Amino acid sequence: MGRKKIVAGNWKMNTNLDEAISLISDIKTGSNHSSQIEKIIFAPFPFLKTAVDNLATETNFFVGAQNCSEHIKGAYTGEVSAEMLSSIACDFVLVGHSERRTFFKETDGQLILKIQHALNNNLKVIFCFGEHLEERKHGQHFDTVKLQLENVLKSFSEEQLKNIYLAYEPVWAIGTGETATPEQAQEMHAYIRRIVSHLFSEVTAQNLPILYGGSCNAQNASELFSCADVDGGLIGGASLKADDFCKIISSF
Ligand code: PEP
Repeated sequence: MGRKKIVAGNWKMNTNLDEAISLISDIKTGSNHSSQIEKIIFAPFPFLKTAVDNLATETNFFVGAQNCSEHIKGAYTGEVSAEMLSSIACDFVLVGHSERRTFFKETDGQLILKIQHALNNNLKVIFCFGEHLEERKHGQHFDTVKLQLENVLKSFSEEQLKNIYLAYEPVWAIGTGETATPEQAQEMHAYIRRIVSHLFSEVTAQNLPILYGGSCNAQNASELFSCADVDGGLIGGASLKADDFCKIISSF
């Protein structure tokens, strides 16, 4: 059996409640022929419960949070715990997004804690990583990705990895309109699979979904998704337009 095919939309800090409801409704209608594709909506915190309720009866539709706290509970004003997300039937958490690493200075240690709490609360994780432009220019992109993966994944067991998906997101491609070529994406995804194989096993590496993220859109998705080791996409900007997002879902 082949690996799952997955399209996830990261809405970031966009939409209000009315916009979120109509976006979900339009995505539902526009993707109703794609039941075999796993679809995940990473909505902002205030709209997660609405998203869960509106997607409850849909096939292969899941809801994810864009972050969770590194703490379990307590006096951490403004934080949202993994347990809270689990209690509203959220399915996924995004961990390690480059915007969190850059703007909120999240470290590998914090990412490990977030993943631990997510898994302990029966949430699945999409773990994001990827190199900066300077690192690629200097030929350091493989070493960067290897370190990002090893530093975090070494804290988890092969069993736990069944609930972690990976998202390779070269930072220079996120929100820039510049995307990795299919060759660059394939080369890196195959490399990521080799790292996972060394850390765990070949079977686990072959079963692991690895998504590509970085200016993936309705025009370039099918080229990217046709790469042997690309199992789908994590979509930012284009996930805010239902038509574009549904075209991406249909791009396998
Ligand atoms: C992202 O935020 O994960 C992302 C890939 O954004 P964009 O598609 O806008 O580059």
